[in-house]
Amino acid sequence: MTAIASPARPLIDRFGRHISYLRISVTDRCDFRCVYCMAEDMTFLPKKDVLSFEEIEAIAGAFIARGTTKIRLTGGEPLVRRDIMDLVRTLGQRIGHGLDELTLTTNGSQLRKHAQGLFDAGVRRLNVSLDTLDEQRFRDITRRGRLAEVLDGIDAAQDAGLAIKINMVAMRGVNDDEIEPMMAWAHGRGMGLTLIEGMPLGEVGIDRVDCYLPLRELHDTLARRYTLTRLDKQTGGPARYSHVAETGGVLGFITPMSHNFCESCNRVRLTATGQLFLCLGQEDQVNLRDALRDGGLPALDAAMDHAMAIKPKGHDFVIDRSRPAPALGRHMSVTGG
Ligand code: SAM
Ligand code: SF4
Repeated sequence: MTAIASPARPLIDRFGRHISYLRISVTDRCDFRCVYCMAEDMTFLPKKDVLSFEEIEAIAGAFIARGTTKIRLTGGEPLVRRDIMDLVRTLGQRIGHGLDELTLTTNGSQLRKHAQGLFDAGVRRLNVSLDTLDEQRFRDITRRGRLAEVLDGIDAAQDAGLAIKINMVAMRGVNDDEIEPMMAWAHGRGMGLTLIEGMPLGEVGIDRVDCYLPLRELHDTLARRYTLTRLDKQTGGPARYSHVAETGGVLGFITPMSHNFCESCNRVRLTATGQLFLCLGQEDQVNLRDALRDGGLPALDAAMDHAMAIKPKGHDFVIDRSRPAPALGRHMSVTGG
């Protein structure tokens, strides 16, 4: 398979959106159990159902050949998959050959071990998820994690030359009092901070209605206290960014609940078992693993065309007492955040 710069058959869906960003969940497993993401007693997929690295590489190659320029590895926790760096190195070799960027979203727990290897493989930026700087609160939110390990991992990643953006799920009554301190901390260390609205994905350990914090409201509150200048930064993701004059850093807002950003959606998500989900908030999917296993690369290519024909226009999350069940039964760790 050769990656080409201007693909003959780019992936364009029926609404004219060009799909150039593939998120790959390399595992549904994780060493944390964040309350908004997983239940305490999660059942994980049998390992035999999970795509092999060869299958992930074949699918990634097929996407790159059709115009995918950005790949993000996620999960579950991508850095807990055994030998994950083998995959990172192989995909890293595609950078400059069709692929512009290979990046990861990680909880940071294994970063000290892998930071230099990630940089050497061509990774330049990471998203690290961190919702609090308070040790006890961190333990409560992650149900497993140790804050010190994550902070140490962030140090190691910065020392290795990786740019970091911190992702913080903003939760009313849980960590909303830390938003400004987290911003000061992140910006003080040259890292961006992006706030995320909690989404109703899967049965978990918190009351999503109580914790839901509309970021539009928060943006307006912060705009009264800080000088926020909207940036036209295009990262291929759904975040809207502002420059904060007082801290000199960048603050992002991901607002899947209060603002629908689907019109510019350029991404699709591959689960650890090879289903291609076409929207984080919808069930539409195509099974790329079966296509590849049963019919090889031609069948994979045809399945990608089918995916473009059925990618939904957008999502419609609702958090509301009258609809107490999660909007989707699927956890974020399955789809790949
Ligand atoms: N384990 C890695 C991590 O935590 O960064 C990668 C996977 S995690 C599912 C990716 C992102 O999804 C994290 O930033 C996490 O905070 C976010 N996330 C998980 N469940 C969520 C939910 N229900 N609503 C909003 N964000 C969620
Ligand atoms: Fe694990 Fe990330 Fe989900 Fe937390 S948000 S449980 S770290 S996959």
